[in-house]
Amino acid sequence: MAVEDIVIVGGGLAGATAAKTLRTEGFPGRIVVLSAEVHHPYLRPPLSKEYLLGKAGDDALPVVPPEWYADNDVELRLGVPVTELDPAARTVGLGDGSRLDYASLLLATGARPRSIPLPGSGLKGVSTFRTLDDSRRLRSSLADGGRNVVMVGSGWIGMELAAAASSYGNTVTLLGLEEVPLGAAIGPELGGFFRSLHEANGVRFRLPASAAEITGNAGRVTGVRTDAGEILAAELVVIAVGVVPEVSLAEAAGVPLRNGILTDASLRTGTPGIFAAGDVANALHPFTGEHHRSEHWSNALNGGKVAAKSMLGQDAMLDTIPYFYTDQFDVSMEYSGFPTLISGPPTIRGSLDEKVFIAFWQREGRVVAGMSVNWPRSGKPQKMIKALIAARTAVSPQALADSSVPLDQILPEA
Ligand code: FAD
Repeated sequence: MAVEDIVIVGGGLAGATAAKTLRTEGFPGRIVVLSAEVHHPYLRPPLSKEYLLGKAGDDALPVVPPEWYADNDVELRLGVPVTELDPAARTVGLGDGSRLDYASLLLATGARPRSIPLPGSGLKGVSTFRTLDDSRRLRSSLADGGRNVVMVGSGWIGMELAAAASSYGNTVTLLGLEEVPLGAAIGPELGGFFRSLHEANGVRFRLPASAAEITGNAGRVTGVRTDAGEILAAELVVIAVGVVPEVSLAEAAGVPLRNGILTDASLRTGTPGIFAAGDVANALHPFTGEHHRSEHWSNALNGGKVAAKSMLGQDAMLDTIPYFYTDQFDVSMEYSGFPTLISGPPTIRGSLDEKVFIAFWQREGRVVAGMSVNWPRSGKPQKMIKALIAARTAVSPQALADSSVPLDQILPEA
């Protein structure tokens, strides 16, 4: 390979976006994208929402059209895991026994579902959830309805899967370690909002509770025994207890790690020539001066762009305000901000009962995060929330709560 060649490990949103950005920025050299998966790089958010519900098809998933890679002279090798990384020689070893040299390398290896040592987790009908194949399998199991489904895990994925499973007419029970679902992410009041939404749609909760054992018969799951001794009947169990960053390659190669691959704001790792982006990267954020590892779509998208520009020697930083969204039943939620900066409960504008509101979190008077639920898009709630965060100016909770004060008039005049 020539000295300018770039190798990207991981064919997810971060890896594919980096390849696309390299070309749009005019990089003329060789680009190789190596993906352990057999599918063209795809978006994961629809997998637990509209794709699982059958409201979106395969055409909604590609990061870029499949023909884009050949059209733009990008070598996409599917089903080829990278098994070894030698930073001193600047080479990677592939699962098919071959080796590749690189001038710059992007580690965009994402994350994998956390596994828990649970008796019975190998039974048929028990799964984790991350990939297109997981979504296709679950959709065909759920689509006819009438099944008993147990979700283990009360985070975003567990809640989205519970909503989809219930929408198909299955009986869904969700268990988790928290007092309220999503409590760790958005606190008890708003976690309670999502719990009520689910209960109104028939989802049952066992909280706090942990799964002690998955029971089975003839190799198939029959139920889940909770730590309280209750047996919940189940023909399907999904374990959705979070993810762990996929660092095995980086770790074996001695790339510095801390809760993922540690990078600076330009997504450079501590190893020369190696960059990291997406779920796997724990990047320094210029806004907080702290490292953040985000497991969200916008971070993979923006990180892929920034890593590509950094690899080209441009002055790029991942300095966008973190953003994510979820759709559950008739609720569309968007969130921007820095959860680690939150101190205290949120201020609510609008009405939880009517399912139209914005929650603002503050720290020393400054808005540090905001979540809009079913708020009219014409009001540009996320744009306003981001502007309030970026202003780093203390604002009054009364003005935040008062719907008669337009969002763009909350900031004091400079
Ligand atoms: P990944 O998408 O995990 O891609 C990494 C790729 O690298 C994988 O294909 C993996 O197989 C491959 N790989 C790993 N190791 C190797 C290796 N050694 N060699 C070759 N290839 C390798 N975010 C939101 O903001 N909103 C949402 O609503 C939302 N919903 C989600 C729903 C689901 C079901 C899931 C799973 C995630 C969701 N997310 C959501 C999170 C978002 O999808 C992720 O943050 C994003 O996919 C991360 O992209 P990535 O490229 O960093 O990693």
